[in-house]
Amino acid sequence: MKKDIVSLLPEELEEDLRQLGEPAYRAGQIFRWLGRGVRDFDAMSDLSKNLREKLKENYRIYAPKVLRKQISSIDGTIKYLWELQDGQAVETVVMSYQHGNTVCVSSQVGCRQGCAFCASTIGGLIRNLTPSEILDEVMFSQLDSGKEISNIVLMGIGEPLDNFDNVMRFLQLVNHPKGMNIGMRHISLSTCGITERFDDLAARDLQLTLSVSLHAPDDETRSRLMPANRGRGVDQLIACCKKYFEKTGRRISFEYAMIDGVNDTAFHAQKLAALAREVSAHVNLIPLNHVEERQFRPSTSGHMKAFIKILEEHQVNVTVRRRLGSDVDASCGQLRRKREIDRNRNAAEG
Ligand code: SAH
Repeated sequence: MKKDIVSLLPEELEEDLRQLGEPAYRAGQIFRWLGRGVRDFDAMSDLSKNLREKLKENYRIYAPKVLRKQISSIDGTIKYLWELQDGQAVETVVMSYQHGNTVCVSSQVGCRQGCAFCASTIGGLIRNLTPSEILDEVMFSQLDSGKEISNIVLMGIGEPLDNFDNVMRFLQLVNHPKGMNIGMRHISLSTCGITERFDDLAARDLQLTLSVSLHAPDDETRSRLMPANRGRGVDQLIACCKKYFEKTGRRISFEYAMIDGVNDTAFHAQKLAALAREVSAHVNLIPLNHVEERQFRPSTSGHMKAFIKILEEHQVNVTVRRRLGSDVDASCGQLRRKREIDRNRNAAEG
């Protein structure tokens, strides 16, 4: 099995090359090519033919292909569907804000978490993405769009904490001074609440923002919407959030999709306010986005206003997420490995 060269840190590549009998500076040359998005050993023109052959024997390298690119006519949000080396496909979204460009990356092909309102979990989990595949979502989104990426959110398809090791390595790669050098404070990682991993994450002592997809403050509602809550529970989640905040000093953000008649009553707002205060969390409300296969509806603006008012009365720090890219299904919870779905649909119709 050939090694995945793009998943190696520069210092690891240096060590590898030493073992292949090559001087250390070669690693620097190769890393510079990789850092420019070159994914073909023969294009690394300052390496000898002999070394290029050695690299081909020992390493695999691949550039994701654009299967589909959609640009929102409302706000310019770009959504890519990439083809991976094994023919699987994932989506990535590039959003432009006043403070810079944010890329929303997928961490898995599919998802096994089964949230009742989300498109990404339809069809379950196929496989984890490798560190290089996640890195290349950032790299090739930047190269293709021409928009310099300053922020990353791990909020695409997949549950990042279910692919912990690869996601941690991706973070090291993208943060590396000799790589894309994107600061941890410009990165957010979102989880449906895989609490067993919170201590591991805190132990890494990263300066990233942890977002927790809460969506309901009580077990009855949350377990109905999010299977991940069953067997864990809101109390445990909150205890783990509290511990994470105490250990890292990094404020957690609660994501809360507003679903008409499901989680948007005064009861929910009051309970949410208490939880947010308990862990000093910031609350980010998301008007529910439409997913064809799901029956849920977004809360009315009246209900949202009343909900926000209760949170503010309790001095909770609350923002409403802008809905971007809705005309190209690029909003939260709308990403999917579309190609698979299209294929299944064609098969069903044909
Ligand atoms: N698995 C991780 C990462 C996905 S992030 C997690 O659950 O956090 C995607 C975010 O969009 C999550 O907060 C998810 O709960 C939310 N989401 C899913 N479906 C949605 C929908 N239909 N409308 C609004 N937000 C949705």
